[in-house]
Amino acid sequence: MVQYNYDLFVIGAGSGGIRTARMASGYGARVAIAEERYLGGTCVNVGCVPKKLLVYASQFKDHFQAAAGFGWTVGESTFNWSSLIANKNQEIERLHAVYGNQLQKSGVNIITGNAKLLDAHTVVVDGVHYSAKHIVIATGGWPSVPDMPGKQHTVTSNEMFFLDQLPKSIVIAGGGYIAVEFAGILNSFGVDTTLCHRGHKLLRGFDEDIRDFLGNEMIRKGVNVLLNTDIEAIESAADTFVARLIDGRKINTDMVMYATGRTPNSAGLGLEALGVELDGAGAIKINADYQTTVPSIYALGDVTNRVNLTPVALAEGMALVSNLYGDQSKPVDYDNIPTAVFCQPNIGTVGLTEAQAREKYPDIDIYKTRFTPMKNTLSGIDEKALIKMVVVRSTDRVVGIHMVGPDAAEIIQGMAVAIRAGATKAVFDSTIGVHPTAAEELVTLREKC
Ligand code: NDP
Repeated sequence: MVQYNYDLFVIGAGSGGIRTARMASGYGARVAIAEERYLGGTCVNVGCVPKKLLVYASQFKDHFQAAAGFGWTVGESTFNWSSLIANKNQEIERLHAVYGNQLQKSGVNIITGNAKLLDAHTVVVDGVHYSAKHIVIATGGWPSVPDMPGKQHTVTSNEMFFLDQLPKSIVIAGGGYIAVEFAGILNSFGVDTTLCHRGHKLLRGFDEDIRDFLGNEMIRKGVNVLLNTDIEAIESAADTFVARLIDGRKINTDMVMYATGRTPNSAGLGLEALGVELDGAGAIKINADYQTTVPSIYALGDVTNRVNLTPVALAEGMALVSNLYGDQSKPVDYDNIPTAVFCQPNIGTVGLTEAQAREKYPDIDIYKTRFTPMKNTLSGIDEKALIKMVVVRSTDRVVGIHMVGPDAAEIIQGMAVAIRAGATKAVFDSTIGVHPTAAEELVTLREKC
């Protein structure tokens, strides 16, 4: 029988890779994980975690403004970006240590360096060869910036988390998750923020009402939202830049950020030579068991470019390990994956949009409410909230819930459980509300639109 150094060799210690390695080790497998950059991957270092910390920081502007309405006199407030970034970096360092300890305690061998595949069972890291029965590629993705004149002047989310100082003005290209989240953060920090998106609305794929509502709220909060346009070129002008748009407009700005999607990190791993197939976008092709076209090599998470969310990569890791070493009891259900966009106000959504539901079912009822969150009555903050529920009339099943407003991300997690459990509108209607909350609107929706 062939003797391998490891049962499982994981390439990439991001969310999906770490979870896969630890779970496999828990089943008694001999596991190694290779990482060339940082433990925790995008989520911990240049994604979800630092982003959420920046969102919290930026919201203090509204909190200070709201305080007066509640009787507080707040002294002059100032904001220090460097101090925020230093504190954020310290927290990320703490998380690195936590991840390192967890892996070590689980018995996973951490190998630092750039990993390449030599054959279907061999990985080389900095000249050292390791053999493994199975190899998992969990190398994530990387921001992609389209080619155009002046591309070298752009920054991406990767750099935004480490800026020495905030710019006075910024143009952000894109209309997806990262663009709207950073527009909210920077606008709240007082940066003159322009969002430039090629589409006619932000956040393609989200429910149309949510897209309209968020777009309007962002404009009301002071973001300069430019739609149906695109940046054609960026020119350097002394200490600033000029973004030239396809419609002829020119915008002077301190910084241009691109948030136009992410590319799977599949290049340079030696995949093509082994016969591991990629799709046109560079994503690794896998079957339902996360297996690539080379049977001993698996892939999961953003490098497969399916649902690029941390919790999905975690679930995929657990499913794969359960398939390899367990009782195959953890398949991932890709329906009804809840998601949040931490724009301001934030979005929480689960299930079908109205348009998707109308395509699938002939009889859809829509319930909607727009309201002023209670905190905003005294705060002087003119920010509204929206809740929308999509129901199939014949079965009474709730198939979609979409919310924009304070705590939408927190609220939607519970709604995702209800939808997975198959809750009907009658179940929502018979549930007693928690008063006074925004979430109680979900159980008091009576009027069909
Ligand atoms: P998205 O795919 O969400 O959005 C990309 C945006 O850029 C879209 O508006 C797209 O327009 C636009 N775009 C794409 N290519 C070009 C181009 N060549 N020129 C101009 N505009 C272009 O990507 P993000 O970078 O915002 O985020 C990447 C992924 O990371 C997300 O899809 C999500 O999976 C994940 N993420 C999740 C977060 C969360 O859970 N809160 C937070 C941040 C990221 P169009 O719509 O017309 O294609």
